[in-house]
Amino acid sequence: MKILFNKPYKSGNELKYIADSIESGKISGDGIYTKKCHDFLENKFGYNKALLTTSCTDALEMAAILIDVKPGDEVIMPSYTFVSTANAFVLRGAKLVFADSKKDHPGIDEEAIETLITSKTKAIVPVHYAGVACDMDKIMELAKNYDLFVIEDAAQAIDSYYLGKDGLKKPLGSIGHLAAFSFHETKNIISGEGGMLVVNDEKFLKRAEIIREKGTNRSAFFRGEIDKYGWVDVGSSFLPSDIIAAYLYAQLESLEFIQDRRKSIWNRYDNAFRGVLDSKHDITLPFIPSHATNNAHMYYLVCSSIDERKKLLAYLKSNGILAVFHYLSLHESKFFNGKHEGLNLKESDRYTNCLVRLPLFVELGEQEQDFIIKHINEFYKKK
Ligand SMILES: *Cc1c(COP(=O)(O)O)cnc(C)c1O
Repeated sequence: MKILFNKPYKSGNELKYIADSIESGKISGDGIYTKKCHDFLENKFGYNKALLTTSCTDALEMAAILIDVKPGDEVIMPSYTFVSTANAFVLRGAKLVFADSKKDHPGIDEEAIETLITSKTKAIVPVHYAGVACDMDKIMELAKNYDLFVIEDAAQAIDSYYLGKDGLKKPLGSIGHLAAFSFHETKNIISGEGGMLVVNDEKFLKRAEIIREKGTNRSAFFRGEIDKYGWVDVGSSFLPSDIIAAYLYAQLESLEFIQDRRKSIWNRYDNAFRGVLDSKHDITLPFIPSHATNNAHMYYLVCSSIDERKKLLAYLKSNGILAVFHYLSLHESKFFNGKHEGLNLKESDRYTNCLVRLPLFVELGEQEQDFIIKHINEFYKKK
């Protein structure tokens, strides 16, 4: 048996909608399917404004421009994240201030944030790792007290929620001033490459449209609000072709099916491992705090050492199963290594060395999953 780590899901309507987009005669950005996606996402998740982008990376870069990050500004984020979370701000000259992860979850340690705030801090960028919410009440309160922006890196967090102190269930990406999502083929809802900027703070709305359209007021022009459009601000080309949006729309229509399937696979792993791997072996299983829901973006194990992880990955590979590790602490990267004075982020390094992601995709069959579970259990029995 050969089991891939990920297999991009097809709902069945992708080609039909792509053909329809082509027939519409407008395949550039903000065509009929882009509008359908915006409407769907705003209605389903109650975002103030959703704007499709070509990637989450682009959405993060837009966010950095929108909050007007300048050289010397400091931005707080976890070290255990994807490079795009950091690059977006580095590109504008910001100084990155890395926080450690939590002991029980790879997400940012909310307790560590306040000690990192200085007079130069501009923003906090929480990453909802594995689609599991950071403690947003805590983060938003800090932001309010110190007058900071919050940009949610919600790349993995579609259809996941935060249960706040006010008793409300808020979709991730609807809480910070801005939020960035990814529709890369490894995420739950996909379009190959693709992303979305969510604008929650009204004051960014007008400028977000302009930055996304090369610094022009073309969006207002297309709505008939002005009679000619021109260069009014900085910007770039952040909007995707309508063909991409057509693919995405077919996925969004299947959101419920995709999520149900992923959650059932996630739960099958969890039922097989919880109380077994974590109690008999020194393994940490995914933790969902009471303030968070689970969107089943990822099932992972945290091994007890880098050597154990190496052996587990090799054992699975020799049996045709492709499991993979994840981020490498950004503060330890070749690019950033020389740019800090001895940062020591113990938990971030532990996830760097010990975290293993298991195959999780809609078409993963029960037999295949049993095969994976059997081999993981066998590996630990032999140990
Ligand atoms: C996937 C991912 C990104 C980047 O998404 P792209 O759409 O590929 O640009 C950024 N941050 C996190 C946390 C991610 O998981």
